[in-house]
Amino acid sequence: MTRIGFIGVGTMGLPMASNLVKKGFTVTAFDLNTEAVKAAAAAGMKAAASAAEAVAGADLVITMLPSSSHVEAAYTGDGGVLAAGRKGTLCVDMSTIDPAVSRRIAAAAAERGLRFIDAPVSGGVTGASDGTLAIMVGGSAGDVEEARPALAAMGTNVIHVGAVGSGEVVKLCNNLIAGVAAVAVSEAFRIAEGFGVDPKVVTEVIAKSSGNTWVMEHMHPVAGIVSKSASTNDYAPGFMTDLMAKDLGLAVNAARELRVPVVVAPAAQQALRLASSHGFGRRDFTSVYLFLKPSSGQAPV
Ligand code: NAD
Repeated sequence: MTRIGFIGVGTMGLPMASNLVKKGFTVTAFDLNTEAVKAAAAAGMKAAASAAEAVAGADLVITMLPSSSHVEAAYTGDGGVLAAGRKGTLCVDMSTIDPAVSRRIAAAAAERGLRFIDAPVSGGVTGASDGTLAIMVGGSAGDVEEARPALAAMGTNVIHVGAVGSGEVVKLCNNLIAGVAAVAVSEAFRIAEGFGVDPKVVTEVIAKSSGNTWVMEHMHPVAGIVSKSASTNDYAPGFMTDLMAKDLGLAVNAARELRVPVVVAPAAQQALRLASSHGFGRRDFTSVYLFLKPSSGQAPV
């Protein structure tokens, strides 16, 4: 049975690794946050005191960390995965990060005789808990097939999308659309409210019209319309504002390198930063709606 070293058992990593345990994998977990490691032990994982300890005896290493810098540090830093992992170890990074960083780490891994693929996810905490994530995988076909049984324990749609880094490309394209949609839906509902039209009615009509989007149907920014939405639960994440702002930043950076003009992604990112600067960075990203409210000033527009 595959022994898995799992690094980063936070909001997403813990339920994902728990599903591996439920499917019979032996999982050794490490996180910089000792409380997270305790929660992993309570879910049936072996607790490691360092990344090196988590990967030392592993056949497969999985990382689920916040952003590019964390992933780079975890792999290439002192005592990191590449220094501690055995030759031939297959490493799967499931964080959402810059595709260029994934490719850089893959090259560094190859130099040390290890293998690296990227497998970012979509589906949020619910998908992570239920084992129904969509997983977009970039890497060689052989490596992807080797990782597939573990990935299938965490997600129902495991899709090989191309060479290493390609999973991240698909993920940042998806989040560009979802992040922009959250801002657009919020703006639309502020206007409807301003004219006194019932938001439930607006939702029903748009759900059958060309403006329909997954964000409105499943993550409605207005509380009380979709029962399972974060907004209805006081904007408890869900998917944190700061993470969505990070993902829009990844999209904007990628576009800059490719010289692709991007107009709405930077605007959506700044709207999310506004929510963050009001203390909503660790709340759900749909809380952006709260900060797109009408100004109270009386000056003519
Ligand atoms: P999180 O902050 O809850 O968890 C990350 C964990 O990594 C934390 O427990 C942190 O202590 C740990 N960590 C950071 N650096 C570390 C290191 N060097 N070594 C060991 N542990 C380290 O974040 P999350 O919500 O679980 O998100 C993880 C990734 O998944 C992000 O890239 C995010 O964009 C992506 N993602 C999140 C969601 C979601 O709904 N939360 C959905 C899809 C994708």
